[in-house]
Amino acid sequence: MKKLLLSASVLAMIVSCSTSKNSSVANTDYAAKYAATITEKDLAKHLFIYASDEFEGRNTGEPGQKKAVKYLKDYYVTQGIASALGGDDYFQEVPASFLNKGRRRGTPLKDSENVVAFIKGSEKPDEIVVISAHLDHVGMKDGKIYNGADDDGSGTVAILEIAEAFQKAVKEGKGPKRSILFLHVTGEEKGLLGSSFYVQNPIFPIANTVVDLNIDMVGRIDDRHKDNPNFVYLIGADKLSTELHEVSEAINKKYTKIDLDYKYNDEKDPNRFYYRSDHYNFAKYNVPIIFYFNGTHEDYHKHTDTPDKINYDLLETRSRLVFHTAWEIANRKDRLIVDKPVTPPSK
Ligand SMILES: [Zn+2]
Repeated sequence: MKKLLLSASVLAMIVSCSTSKNSSVANTDYAAKYAATITEKDLAKHLFIYASDEFEGRNTGEPGQKKAVKYLKDYYVTQGIASALGGDDYFQEVPASFLNKGRRRGTPLKDSENVVAFIKGSEKPDEIVVISAHLDHVGMKDGKIYNGADDDGSGTVAILEIAEAFQKAVKEGKGPKRSILFLHVTGEEKGLLGSSFYVQNPIFPIANTVVDLNIDMVGRIDDRHKDNPNFVYLIGADKLSTELHEVSEAINKKYTKIDLDYKYNDEKDPNRFYYRSDHYNFAKYNVPIIFYFNGTHEDYHKHTDTPDKINYDLLETRSRLVFHTAWEIANRKDRLIVDKPVTPPSK
């Protein structure tokens, strides 16, 4: 995979943010301060619940999935983070009629919901940074519970911790300039359905959505990285916005220093991961995206994808990378430029 070179201007801008302050002013790097609240301990605490047998594999529309969305809602309420819908309804209903449209195989799906939490931006509240992960998994088969700790419990709990970090910033008067939508989508395993519903029924206009940072499987190490586990695959960052790729690279270089592997970003890669998780529904409409991913492994879509197998230190680093990237995009002066737009689908 060809790596793009960072433009000098982007690097200079990001570096200057941390060095230009007069030394008489408290020289706090707030991004680093709040990122430090994302800890492996907290991630583990959430994931051992979220991927426990009690949630029965979180199959779309089933009782275990309903327990999962309640867990997410209760968390946001406890944190004092608002619903994106206003009031105390954190659920964007995704009706069975939508879920079963064009569905030919399997048991018909029941009504489900996306979970939507929101932090309003202080200066550009109409511009929305989306951080997404899918809340569902594949349920139970042959009496076995598919816990989906990595897929996508890992992305789900990453969002919870990222949200807490942003909320702490808000409480201390350092909240983001742009708004953040924490979007937990349902029905991913059935065909990216919750995210598809969201982009067709967006709570905030897609035209005002500046990025989608999508996290799907970030708690494990694949075979290719057994000897160098400090990595994450990034997919899609440069597809619509050269600037997004540059920002992402610069942020990692400054803060998280993890190996960003672009193997699966190659258009010719037969796995076609760019098209295989929820971010793609945003990309179709020219919202720049990054897909964070650890690759597949021996427990992928098996009942053995359990929380005891997660690398929590790595999950912490990867969650912090997403947080820092979101922080930069939410706080930088101008919104990301889409220099390589595609033709969106006709409605
Ligand atoms: Zn997944």
